[in-house]
Amino acid sequence: MKINVLGIEFDALTAQQALEHGAMLLDSEGFHYVVTPNPEFILAAEQDADFRRVLNGADLVLPDGIGVIYSAKLLGTPLKGRVPGIEFAEGMLAQLDRRGGRLFLLGAKPGVAEQAGANICAKYPNLVLCGTHDGYFKEDEPVVEQIKAARPDLLFVCLGAPRQEKWMAQFGPETGARLAAGLGGSLDVFAGTVQRAPEAWQKLNMEWAYRLVKEPKRIGRMAKLPLVLVKAAKARLSGGTREDA
Ligand code: UDP
Repeated sequence: MKINVLGIEFDALTAQQALEHGAMLLDSEGFHYVVTPNPEFILAAEQDADFRRVLNGADLVLPDGIGVIYSAKLLGTPLKGRVPGIEFAEGMLAQLDRRGGRLFLLGAKPGVAEQAGANICAKYPNLVLCGTHDGYFKEDEPVVEQIKAARPDLLFVCLGAPRQEKWMAQFGPETGARLAAGLGGSLDVFAGTVQRAPEAWQKLNMEWAYRLVKEPKRIGRMAKLPLVLVKAAKARLSGGTREDA
């Protein structure tokens, strides 16, 4: 079931259901892509129709961030819970490992994808890391060609939003991958260059606050979180759930 949160059509799935769906996509013919919008995405998509189209055109739209969950609740159409991109990524790696499948990592600063790949291979020895590329390239086609030649099943695209989502929608089918996921800063986490919040913070739904303490320069971006809640409350009060309500 889809739940509209300020113009973005989220899938109402538990984390486990999202993984089952992801595994099904991995086993299906053709190209599929997954997006993990947070409140920043929702606000950006209000101003960018192409971004909104690309998000709503994804095969899986997972709520990454407590702000999305609260907004859906305020709108009177609750989702089933947060599905953090990094957790979806871990689950998909386990699925790929079970299948002995092929993984390509695209994004982050030079060297990060390689380090992330080495850590992933140590944890999931049955999957094949078929290639990596950093996220600071100017020409798309050579990167697409490299990915295609590597024949991945699963492709992580970590270029930051909205570039990663637009990139997947435009070039994904050419890569030959079965499933691509746009995962923001996840390669930095897999590489160990950025730490995820400790579990206690995650359980309190305070992961965003931990990130803010670690990276105070994110304050401007994070100020958008309450704005989304205000918009959701306004939309509810005026009886609509659309972004223009
Ligand atoms: N990035 C990239 N190419 C760019 C800009 C960013 O590969 O042109 C990477 C950046 O190095 C980081 C990720 O994209 O690894 C985005 O991280 P951010 O913290 O913005 O994403 P979030 O986790 O907040 O979605």
